[in-house]
Amino acid sequence: MDTKATAGHDRVVLLDRDGVINESPPEGSWVFHWAEFRFAPGALDALRRLRAHGFTVAVITNQSCVGRGLAPLAEMQDINARMAEAVAAAGGQIAGVYMCPHPRVMDCSCRKPKPGMIDQAARELGFEPSRAFLVGDAERDIEAGLARGCTTIFVTNGQSDRAEGSRAHYVVANLSEAVDLVLRLVAD
Ligand SMILES: [Mg+2]
Ligand SMILES: [Zn+2]
Repeated sequence: MDTKATAGHDRVVLLDRDGVINESPPEGSWVFHWAEFRFAPGALDALRRLRAHGFTVAVITNQSCVGRGLAPLAEMQDINARMAEAVAAAGGQIAGVYMCPHPRVMDCSCRKPKPGMIDQAARELGFEPSRAFLVGDAERDIEAGLARGCTTIFVTNGQSDRAEGSRAHYVVANLSEAVDLVLRLVAD
């Protein structure tokens, strides 16, 4: 783990969705309907704090259930839209949700660990990825961020063994701690 991180940060945070913003579905499953979506403890307040400190927040999520034919694209888009509405109602703001619907076998350029969604967000929202933070709960999130020079933060959700061997710059327990860290780093 490299705690030196990068010199210079902008107020941009890229968030994985499942396991960071909301409670992760079991391995090999997905959140298929809004009724199954549960915000992680403290996540809404963490998002509110990011907005209060002038951050741009984008969500970057793999949802291969669409490409596998397990869920309609419209249903997944509905979940993302309702998530953004709930975040806004709590005083936060999500500037964009970027979703890869493709199965791994398609070998698309957007599915994490590839950085295609980071590139798209950077183009559309206008930021420099190497000055952004990326928060994820899986090494494929971290790898995507490292590919573009993001400062990377691994969220363990209390399962610290999940971060063993991770190349992330930082390891924290949850999104709330990630935001504490980001606010310290931009203040330095
Ligand atoms: Mg995740
Ligand atoms: Zn894709």
